[in-house]
Amino acid sequence: MPFTKLGLSKPLLEGVQAMGYGEPTPVQLRAIPPALAGRDVIASAQTGTGKTAAFALPALQKLGSHGKLRCLVLEPTRELAMQVETSMRDLARFTDLKVGSIFGGVGYGAQRSALRSGLDVVVATPGRLEDHLQQGTIKLDHVEVLVLDEVDRMLDVGFLAPMKRIIAKCPKVRQTLFFSATLPPEIAELAGWALREPERIEIGAGRSVASMVKHGVYLTDQGGKFGMLLALLAATDYQSVLVFSRTKHGADRIAKRLRANNHSVAVLHANRSQNQRIEALEGFKSGRYGIMVATDIAARGIDVAGVSHVINYDIPVHPEDYVHRIGRTGRAQRTGDAFTLVAHDEMKKLAAIERFIGQKIDRLHLEGQNVPKHGEEAVAPRRPKLEPRLDGRAAPTRRRRTFRR
Ligand code: AMP
Repeated sequence: MPFTKLGLSKPLLEGVQAMGYGEPTPVQLRAIPPALAGRDVIASAQTGTGKTAAFALPALQKLGSHGKLRCLVLEPTRELAMQVETSMRDLARFTDLKVGSIFGGVGYGAQRSALRSGLDVVVATPGRLEDHLQQGTIKLDHVEVLVLDEVDRMLDVGFLAPMKRIIAKCPKVRQTLFFSATLPPEIAELAGWALREPERIEIGAGRSVASMVKHGVYLTDQGGKFGMLLALLAATDYQSVLVFSRTKHGADRIAKRLRANNHSVAVLHANRSQNQRIEALEGFKSGRYGIMVATDIAARGIDVAGVSHVINYDIPVHPEDYVHRIGRTGRAQRTGDAFTLVAHDEMKKLAAIERFIGQKIDRLHLEGQNVPKHGEEAVAPRRPKLEPRLDGRAAPTRRRRTFRR
């Protein structure tokens, strides 16, 4: 079914077209009609399924044209708040609706003046929103559409209580759109309290790995991981690689060693300042950095078009994070590869992930490489010099090598 059959207004259809979306994704097909009819929606959908437009389009349509602050979107991280703000602003570009965001780590001045100038939609993280509520710089009395996004991650980062206080400050008569990758009991309880007779939507159970992603594991040991990473990078014709580290300290260390090996690397984790995080993300998106090393919380939900590879340097601690991490690649109909480096002491976690996703993950071997044995480092081939391209991005001149699966 095309977008034109969903009952969206002309300016929003133009916005969709300008974004280059062809057909609605499954979550959009299922969520947009009931949301447009004014119903509450609870959707469990993986990231990368197009859920932002699934809530943004009906919310923007309900607002119609510029007026009071009538739509509040809550996000667990600053990066997501920025990303969703950008998507909503892009979709609303042919309307006169004003979209802004408020999140911590930056000054209050610009946010106060944006709020004063009159916003229809605010995309916010709970902590900074509560500060503004206390200071009286924002009022939620006219909110008609409340969007709670990535609710399971809100819980992980300790935002459940602030989120409940914020919901309680919104009018009781409102439309609530609720998105969470998983629905553990605390979240189901919150949904029961915040939603009225919602339409329930489940897209590809939160346990499944996006079908566009080819994924596999390389067995190694802790001492061999960095060499294995270098060997993988050298053997892979990547556009942009997201490397996941379990800890912030680990992410810094991996980035430092990669830089020492002439890779251009950005780092994203919660200990970095807001400016550093923005610079890292922007640099990675623009192709200035071919590699970004990140921790789970920082990278959750981040949408970087064209992430060609995800490498789990450390195996995720929570099995559901495996699905989220490798969901960073292969987003929106693109294909991607995801590799996990598994040390001997991580085999139990690998088994837990395989149980969670209900599938055995392929064991891979690097062809023609010195695969590290216990206690050794892999010998990486020399990385060829990168030729500059006209668009300013570094173009790999490496020959694509295949992996034996
Ligand atoms: P999301 O799950 O909302 O983060 O979206 C993931 C990616 O899919 C984003 O880059 C969106 O711009 C893109 N996207 C969303 N809807 C569509 C669509 N109908 N067709 C193609 N791409 C889409």
